[in-house]
Amino acid sequence: MLAKISEIHLTDRPLIVCDVDDVVLQFATPFEAFLGSRGHRLLPRSFKLAGNIVSLLDESILDTTAVQTLINDFFIAQERWQTPFAEAIDTLHALAGKADLVFLTAMPPRHADARRRLLDQLTLSFPLIAADEAKGPLVAALHADRSLPVAFIDDMAHNLRSVGDHVPDCLLVYMPPPVEIHKFAPPPPEHVRRAAGWIDAKDMIALHFGI
Ligand SMILES: [Mg+2]
Repeated sequence: MLAKISEIHLTDRPLIVCDVDDVVLQFATPFEAFLGSRGHRLLPRSFKLAGNIVSLLDESILDTTAVQTLINDFFIAQERWQTPFAEAIDTLHALAGKADLVFLTAMPPRHADARRRLLDQLTLSFPLIAADEAKGPLVAALHADRSLPVAFIDDMAHNLRSVGDHVPDCLLVYMPPPVEIHKFAPPPPEHVRRAAGWIDAKDMIALHFGI
C-alpha cells in the first residue's frame, strides 16, 4: 500500500528520507534503453528530457506531449525496466537496522502501485510516499519537529534545497547517478554533502546520527 504521511509510524530512532529514481533504482540508463525499444534516443546535451529525445530514423525532435507519454509509459512498465544500483539494497537494510527509513519518490501517485510492487520485490518494503509536490514541506510534516536526527538523500539540487529550507537541521546528501546527462544538472547548494555512492552515503549518515 502507498503510505500517507499521517499513516507512517516513526519510532524513536533517527529518520532517513530517501529518493528512489536514480538513487535507489536506476532511471536514466533504463529509460534510454526503453527509448531505444520505441525507436528513439536521448541526446545528452542539456539536463532535460523534452527537446533532447529524437527519432532514431531521422533525428527529428519529439514534441513535449510525446515525451510526457513516453515517461508515463516507462513508469507503467517500470517493473520490466528499472533495477537497483550496486550496494543500494544491502546498505538500505543496514541503515534500516538503526534508523527509520521512508522512500519519497517524485512521481504521479497513479504510478505508485507499480513502484510499491517493484520495491517489495527487491525486499525494500519500507514506507513509500509518491508525490508531485515539493519535497521540503513533506519531509517537515513527516519529521514534525522531533528531536531526533534526520537525513535526506536525493540526486536533484531543487529537492535538496527544498528540504534544507524546510528542515534546517537535516543532513542533506547529494548522490548524483553516474550517467552522462547528469553532468549538465544544476549543482546542489553549498551546505549539501556529496556522496560518491551508497557506502559513502552510509558512512556520512552513520557519523551524523552517531550510530
Ligand atoms: Mg531522483
